[in-house]
Amino acid sequence: ILEVKNLKKNFGSLEVLKGIDFSLEKGEALAMIGASGSGKTTLLRCLNFLERPTHGQIIVNDKVIFDADDNKSLGDAQIRKNRLHFGMVFQSFNLFPQYTALRNCTLARELMAKERPDFKENKKKIMDEITAEGEALLESVGLKEKMNYYPHQLSGGQQQRVAIARALMLQPDILCFDEPTSALDPELTGEVLKVIRGLADRHTTMVIVTHEMKFARDVSDKVLFLDQGTIAEYGTPEQVFEHPKEERTRQFLERYF
Ligand code: ATP
Repeated sequence: ILEVKNLKKNFGSLEVLKGIDFSLEKGEALAMIGASGSGKTTLLRCLNFLERPTHGQIIVNDKVIFDADDNKSLGDAQIRKNRLHFGMVFQSFNLFPQYTALRNCTLARELMAKERPDFKENKKKIMDEITAEGEALLESVGLKEKMNYYPHQLSGGQQQRVAIARALMLQPDILCFDEPTSALDPELTGEVLKVIRGLADRHTTMVIVTHEMKFARDVSDKVLFLDQGTIAEYGTPEQVFEHPKEERTRQFLERYF
């Protein structure tokens, strides 16, 4: 479903990603691990076009959606379209504070629906459908009772579960998580990890940047260990966690387990 080919990203003279190659099959969960500063967030931001890669290609469903050699032709409309392949869940939730949990989930879909040629005549039906979907997704993350709460009335763990439901509303091909539990108190991480684990059980295609090594080992099909902008190790959780090939992977795991 996703292929990343020789992806590089420089910030000025700082080379943060130095040629990243990996692929992801539909239904797989990829855990991305690595020390602080190794480039994990930058890689996710490149996938979602929050950063423009300096070099390389991104291919989704066999279609090249980004090619650095053909960079200039990528207009804003195309970037917005490409972004829809990737759902994003950030460290700090990034919910709209002025909207309820439900509205946070439905807003983007409502805006998209307004572009439909049949919107005016079917407005009520379309809006009801979107609302029902939002309610169902909030229920699936255990927030049925909190749909009409505002972000400030919710705990961090609840806010992050809203953020997950919101990302799922856009039915992305690939759901990306950037350290989804690192801004949470330890007692709240479990409820968020449980939701992600449920998504993995239902074969949601995901890229998860995390420092929770046990979680990464349990939930992922593939693990990618990033070290100073290069892939130091890539394989099944068993290969990476139990039989790492590289000394630097062993050293990293000793520090984190
Ligand atoms: P962490 O686990 O701490 O989030 P990370 O592996 O996600 O770290 P990145 O956030 O991708 O690492 O950062 C990788 C490197 O790129 C760092 O040295 C960082 O300072 C640098 N960097 C990131 N964004 C920018 C930017 N916009 N401008 C300049 N340098 C940047």
